[in-house]
Amino acid sequence: MTYRGVMVIGEQRGGKLHSVTYELLARGRILADKLSDELSCVLLGHEMEQYAEGIIQRGADVVYIVDDPSLKYFLPGPFTSTLTRLTREARPEIILAAATTQGRTIMPVLAARLEAGLTADCTGLDIDPDDRLLLQTRPAIGGNVMATIKTPTARPQMATVRPKSAKPLPADPTREGRVIFKSYDKEFFATPERLIEFVKDTTQDVNVQDADIVVCGGKGLKTRDNFRMIEELASLLGAAVGATRDVVDLGWVGYPHQIGLSGKTVSPKLYVAIGLSGSVQHLAGMQTAETIVVINKDPDAQIFKVADFGIVGDLFDVVPELIEKLKHRKNGSNVREG
Ligand SMILES: Cc1cc2nc3c(=O)[nH]c(=O)nc-3n(C[C@H](O)[C@H](O)[C@H](O)COP(=O)(O)OP(=O)(O)OC[C@H]3O[C@@H](n4cnc5c(N)ncnc54)[C@H](O)[C@@H]3O)c2cc1C
Repeated sequence: MTYRGVMVIGEQRGGKLHSVTYELLARGRILADKLSDELSCVLLGHEMEQYAEGIIQRGADVVYIVDDPSLKYFLPGPFTSTLTRLTREARPEIILAAATTQGRTIMPVLAARLEAGLTADCTGLDIDPDDRLLLQTRPAIGGNVMATIKTPTARPQMATVRPKSAKPLPADPTREGRVIFKSYDKEFFATPERLIEFVKDTTQDVNVQDADIVVCGGKGLKTRDNFRMIEELASLLGAAVGATRDVVDLGWVGYPHQIGLSGKTVSPKLYVAIGLSGSVQHLAGMQTAETIVVINKDPDAQIFKVADFGIVGDLFDVVPELIEKLKHRKNGSNVREG
């Protein structure tokens, strides 16, 4: 029995396409090209057809749409049953989903039903040129090593990918693809699960992942009081506040601010790293940022290896000066100097 192509599981929230779908398409496109095969995207929901064109423009060759009002909101039962059925019919060689709540819920069930393996939370994916197998890279042994995993026998090869660990491809209006509508009997979606209410988790309401600018502070700040400098700088730049795990462990800010392997992955336009060393675990969460600015007094700090601009200096001199300059600029009193 042959399995062909790469399939990504698109995500929507209450009928709106989630941007993580485009990130998955970017990952999937690279793999499909290396295999000289097709990339498909599955979209489960209600009235989602409007998004098919955009999905093709971002890399898909085929879009499978399963439309039913009962799929408008995520419920594990109907979603996993539908995906099991559809993947058995389409027989992709590789299935990717996002390591979001939805992806993390669906994929283990799907893998068990398809009797396949699953590598969760991958940070890297590639194709082995020798045997065409999927190379699934993820941190292992407490984040101290990066392990690359292969699935030589079972099919499909399945992986979840951390959100914000890949950049979406730019939309290409010249791309063409097929849209395939799959319909199943109403009874197929029947489930004892019921959506009662959607309650937003406001304790996690820190938008570091969506922010264009992130100012991240490390243990070099030394105290909670000093950490306020990071908050002030972030506020002046219209940025979100990030922190290293050590800072979170010290209780200076809450866990939702943590960036890195055991925190959030971010990919902002600008990342300002202040008084942090750049451990592998921290780098895992921010190295895809477009521009990285570093302020650290140690010229050998690891973080400088990923910096686009670096200031070797004492943050207690540099940051207050930066804050002053930005305040002046904000007040319209920035007289050009020197
Ligand atoms: C399983 C596991 C998961 C982990 N997950 C994460 C994670 O998600 N995120 C994360 O961040 N870490 C994580 N860690 C922890 C990680 O290994 C490091 O301990 C942590 O990132 C270090 O934090 P830091 O850079 O703030 O502190 P440090 O490593 O102590 O660095 C402080 C930096 O500040 C600089 N500095 C000091 N004083 C000044 C000054 N006056 N001016 C300028 N610079 C100054 C120093 O030169 C130094 O580079 C994890 C560890 C493990 C084992």
